[in-house]
Amino acid sequence: MVGPPPQDTATRLIGIIFGPPGSGKGTQAARIEAEFKLKHLSTGEILRAEVARGTPIGKEAGRIMAAGDLVPDELIVDIVRGRLPEAEAGAGVLLDGFPRTLRQAQALDAMLAEEGHRVDLVIALEVPEADLIERLLRRAEVEGRADDTRKAITERMHEYHKLTEAVLDHYARQGVALERIDGTGTPDQVFDRIRKAVPSSLAGEGAPGRKGPGRVGADAS
Ligand code: AMP
Repeated sequence: MVGPPPQDTATRLIGIIFGPPGSGKGTQAARIEAEFKLKHLSTGEILRAEVARGTPIGKEAGRIMAAGDLVPDELIVDIVRGRLPEAEAGAGVLLDGFPRTLRQAQALDAMLAEEGHRVDLVIALEVPEADLIERLLRRAEVEGRADDTRKAITERMHEYHKLTEAVLDHYARQGVALERIDGTGTPDQVFDRIRKAVPSSLAGEGAPGRKGPGRVGADAS
């Protein structure tokens, strides 16, 4: 099924970046935000800030996050619902770490539809699992994140593959532009691949791009 044409995409792009834990998603999202003038909305960052501030949400989420599990859909959907309108009002939004389940994707689609928007672009970073585990254990030493233990890492990978791949399929079925990006190599190399892959028609004027109107659908090669 091909979804309705995107509205307003020259000025307002709704993008999602996916990637398993350790894929460099946060680094690439920050660079995409700067280059494509998008508002970066990371649910993981929002949750970590709530945990650090010791808010009720943080207390509920902290324990779940430390175990490598996903926080409940209702909680995360409420967080995004509270922040999406402001983000949507700008040039565009890059969602990072959300939606992670089909229910979250359906909730997002409904929220966007209320404003006449839809998801325009999905970027999925792909890195072999052995590389990911190595990167995460290294990060654990440097940053000391509570969810970077080997057990929690394995659990988060499992969650990712089980649930998030279903979200990719959901958008592929809608005909949303889906770009699978090789996430190995240096951050510069990965970002270069992203710049080449994002269709210029979606990225807005002056942005680097590759191909014309970008309904590439389930381009899983
Ligand atoms: P991230 O920084 O995106 O890897 O997220 C870190 C952790 O926050 C995840 O392992 C989950 O526990 C939680 N989290 C972030 N985003 C979501 C989401 N959309 N749904 C459920 N849990 C989430």
